[in-house]
Amino acid sequence: MINRRLAVFAAGVLAGGSVLFAQPAAASPPQSPQSPQSPQSPRGEKRAVAEGYGGAVSTVDLDAGRAALETLRRGGNAMDAAVAAAATLGVTEPYSAGLAGGGFIVYYDARHRKVHTIDGRETAPRAMTASSLEGVPFEEAVTSGLSAGVPGSVAQWEFALRRFGTISLARALRPAIEVAAKGFTVDQTFHDQTAANAGRFKDFTSTAELYLPGGSPPPVGSTFRNPDLAETYRRLGRSGGDWLYGGPLGAEIVATVKRPPVVPGSARRVRPGLMEPSDLAAYRVVERPATKVTYKGMDVYGMAPPSSGGSTVGEALNILEALPEVGPHEYLEASRLAFADRGRYVGDVPGVPLAELLSDGFAGERACLIGERAMAHPAAPGNPDGAYGPCEAAPPARATPTPAEGPETTHLVVTDRWGNVVAYNITIESTGGNGIVVPGRGFLLNNELTDFTFGPAPGDPNLPGPGKRPRSSMAPTIVLSGGRPLLALGSPGGSTIITTVLQILVNRWELGMTLPEAVAAPRATQRNTAQTQAEAGFVDRYGAELTARGHAFAPSPEIGAATAVEFLGGGRLRAVAEPTRRGGGSALVVSERR
Ligand code: GLU
Repeated sequence: MINRRLAVFAAGVLAGGSVLFAQPAAASPPQSPQSPQSPQSPRGEKRAVAEGYGGAVSTVDLDAGRAALETLRRGGNAMDAAVAAAATLGVTEPYSAGLAGGGFIVYYDARHRKVHTIDGRETAPRAMTASSLEGVPFEEAVTSGLSAGVPGSVAQWEFALRRFGTISLARALRPAIEVAAKGFTVDQTFHDQTAANAGRFKDFTSTAELYLPGGSPPPVGSTFRNPDLAETYRRLGRSGGDWLYGGPLGAEIVATVKRPPVVPGSARRVRPGLMEPSDLAAYRVVERPATKVTYKGMDVYGMAPPSSGGSTVGEALNILEALPEVGPHEYLEASRLAFADRGRYVGDVPGVPLAELLSDGFAGERACLIGERAMAHPAAPGNPDGAYGPCEAAPPARATPTPAEGPETTHLVVTDRWGNVVAYNITIESTGGNGIVVPGRGFLLNNELTDFTFGPAPGDPNLPGPGKRPRSSMAPTIVLSGGRPLLALGSPGGSTIITTVLQILVNRWELGMTLPEAVAAPRATQRNTAQTQAEAGFVDRYGAELTARGHAFAPSPEIGAATAVEFLGGGRLRAVAEPTRRGGGSALVVSERR
């Protein structure tokens, strides 16, 4: 267990460091053209940590990282580069992200020193009701037209570029078009994800044709091209989002959702979707106020509902701040409590008590429940009613279980020479989305609507509804100190996204780790479940101590795939990706020298 005074000292050093951060407008002079390679990073090699100036990019994938870096080097800003990277991930990480998915952007606007968020979450069709998923076996919903939400990504890209960017959608799509047309090298992760999906991909003519050429997953080291997607992106660039939202591409999506192209003779039962062209035409991106908590003098900004990312990370941080000491036990317990409240109160519904969930008073009441031993399972939700007693146990209430969520999506961080910062989660939900490629268009549909509670569950804030957005766990996060960026981070991993972000912050600010150490450290995830899922390294390190205090662990091979950028002061940036998880990520900087 770490003594809080030491932790505060460490944070003070860190916060002090941020004072050195240069004025955003003068953070770095325009970069002279130079080779994208650095001595430590010959072309073709990914590295997990990069330090330098003038902008930084952290992604799971080198091609996407390069798309962002080249956009920055050509004078684009962080938002331009983030859209370029996201579109490229739709090519190289097509099972995690794509134009038919959705996502959340948290953005720091350096000029106005303000944090914005952009909600591009998928929505339920208007025909969907609270009982539409009742009785549907989860596995059947995963591969179905029924689970496909109205896509948000294209609208989000257009909105983000118009509101904060400097280039057109057509321009932002260019690097992705090039990768799709020329091809990328199949790595182990792409191969394994294809193989893991082969059982369902083979049941759809369009998906089998694209991702199982010759009947099997493309071999590692081969070049994978997606000319259909290249053409789709070209048309999108020319015609804009209207081609999808109410236009011919939208009609094709609706046709695919309603009559999935099931291979003749397949025994698979594929439920059709409820989506209509009018649902696509009605789709709207929403700019929302960010969630904000103050933690050790730093301001932590996150994504508000329909994501539970900002509220749950924020509440857990507040709980930790209310405790005299913080170590792995407190991390797990704070997370357990925050998840109990997430399940009970957070969804795409009016009246989420967000301010109370993020209040110090509520956190104090919740923190009082944390003792020497692990709490009894399940933790009941608290009562965020504004009346908080000193160390009063929360009244007994029914606990809401944390439903299963898919383990995949992707996150990227981009910063630019002006000091703007983008933290961006983009997803199609399951690895491989709903498994159905829109014929001739080169992209998979999402199955985001499986993030709803299937029910029956009266009073659950996350039941489906017409035009509703399923509750997310995505937690793109930006931390400011003195109004200037200090850290931006996020991760994939369904509901483990929240604990991965929280654990990295705890590692960094409570356990005194550097950011690369904080990202690489073994993870554990407690989401108000009887057992805490944990990577072997976490159990090796803390298992004996925590088991003696009543924690129980279940092994998890790998949790999350984080990306982060830290501002070191004086305009210096440290981009950090995973050294090993999901095959390792890619950290890049615009220039290694000032
Ligand atoms: N559907 C998930 C969410 O919105 C993200 C995808 C994943 O990582 O599983 O929370």
